[in-house]
Amino acid sequence: MPGGVKADVRTYQMYVNGEWVDSKSNKTFPVYDPATEEVIAQVPEANADDVNRAVAAARAAFDNGPWASTTAQERGRVLFRLADKIRQNAGMLTELESRNTGKPIVEAEFDIADVSTCFEYYGGLATKILGYVNPVPDNAVSLTLKEPIGVAGQIIPWNYPLLMAAWKLAPALAAGCTCILKPAEQTPITALEMAKWFAEVGLPPGVVNVITGLGESCGAPLVQHPDVNKIAFTGSAAVGKIIVKQAADTVKRVTLELGGKSPNIFFADADFEAAIDGALFGVFINQGEVCSAGSRILVQKPIYKKFVDAMTEKAKKIKLGAPLDRDTKMGPLVSKDQYDRVRSYQELGKKEAKLAIGGGRADKFAKGYYLEPTIFYDVTNNDRIAREEIFGPIAAVIPFEDEKDALKIANDSPYGLAAAVWTRDIFKAFRVVKSLRAGVVWVNHMQPTYVEAPWGGYKQSGFGRELGPWGIEEYLETKQVHINLNEAPIGWY
Ligand code: NAP
Ligand code: MG
Repeated sequence: MPGGVKADVRTYQMYVNGEWVDSKSNKTFPVYDPATEEVIAQVPEANADDVNRAVAAARAAFDNGPWASTTAQERGRVLFRLADKIRQNAGMLTELESRNTGKPIVEAEFDIADVSTCFEYYGGLATKILGYVNPVPDNAVSLTLKEPIGVAGQIIPWNYPLLMAAWKLAPALAAGCTCILKPAEQTPITALEMAKWFAEVGLPPGVVNVITGLGESCGAPLVQHPDVNKIAFTGSAAVGKIIVKQAADTVKRVTLELGGKSPNIFFADADFEAAIDGALFGVFINQGEVCSAGSRILVQKPIYKKFVDAMTEKAKKIKLGAPLDRDTKMGPLVSKDQYDRVRSYQELGKKEAKLAIGGGRADKFAKGYYLEPTIFYDVTNNDRIAREEIFGPIAAVIPFEDEKDALKIANDSPYGLAAAVWTRDIFKAFRVVKSLRAGVVWVNHMQPTYVEAPWGGYKQSGFGRELGPWGIEEYLETKQVHINLNEAPIGWY
């Protein structure tokens, strides 16, 4: 256990059926502060027995509990009250999130504010789930009704812990589903803190259950459980592929928000200063641990050399530091595993391309999983550092000739989560937007994300969409109702 256990280690229980419980095995696992490498919490290690208990609670709450008859207005109010609680406790949540993930506290503030906004948005949407009257040609009324899909299993990653929980829980609850949330093993504590308010804001027992455990022993039984109707997963493509296979036997609805290798495309006519800023922000925000990171930086040849030099100069000024320091622009990576993984890509990059800056551990820190922001240039799109998701502060800069060349490189990836294009030419921008095979495309910006707009990927970045009305749709079933208005018999026999 790196660093040993400190006095302020918190011991958590999990939230199942409205009660705080240990795992049935009584096993726990440690949660770390990646800046100090110290244990900051112990949480229950749930296995299949605990999954069964949580699913039974969610099933009963959906089938027989008060939630089934709770009106859309009341579900909306519950979400508004939860949003308020989060806002009132934003300081505590922000600090915990920053400590546990290593992300700069200023970034964590945005995340926690977005958590409130997400619950509020879906609180409002709860009363706007509409059906249809279908224009059938007979003397009948044909209706389309929208109904909650049932019990949702929700499995999330560690890079935006509470925000990913909100993206999953808010639309599911607005739709009338019940939930079992499994946070990532590295970062389960803010979701457990939030669960302390569930009863108070009016969520009946069993409606939201938060279980902490590992992917294989807790996530997998949740995916396979016959009483779970839907799995919403955010994480790596590798695990996403396993989830699809595991969900097949029970023909579950699955939505997948997976990784990316997003192109950030800079044409020679782009505003140069804004472009340099956008290139760095796109790939180094949140230590590069962002699914939509602009990790492939495509630069048109006339500005290529100047661009790499300017990026490098500006990257030297990125302030690495303690996550809780308000001046910090980059903290440590989330875990030892992630640090080792990204560190190995730094070495791989040195073999595949040219190093402009970084390439190693950030030496000034005695402890913590700090890596230097790293820029490789003269990368080709066939290099592994241009094809594989690294999920850390490594930029791969690739030169291109013209629009056609840029699009060919940009779309030549197994992923299709996000992309950005920088140019002053609106016609060129829109041609590129339409040709990019990606679920999110930014023009002259990178990373802004809004609860009102859809989020999700093409190709191996997954399927289904979160956020906006698209997000709630993924938690709804569609029922066709036919009301015959002829009083006479069908008259066939
Ligand atoms: P991960 O290793 O795929 O894990 C994601 C979640 O799945 C964790 O809760 C994990 O549990 C669980 N899991 C692992 N194996 C499982 C199994 N066999 N069955 C069921 N669940 C299992 O991803 P991560 O390292 O936490 O997060 C980084 C990845 O998430 C990146 O690829 C990133 O691109 C992606 N991401 C995508 C988006 C998006 O919106 N598209 C947003 C954020 C992150 P453990 O905690 O025990 O591993
Ligand atoms: Mg993992």
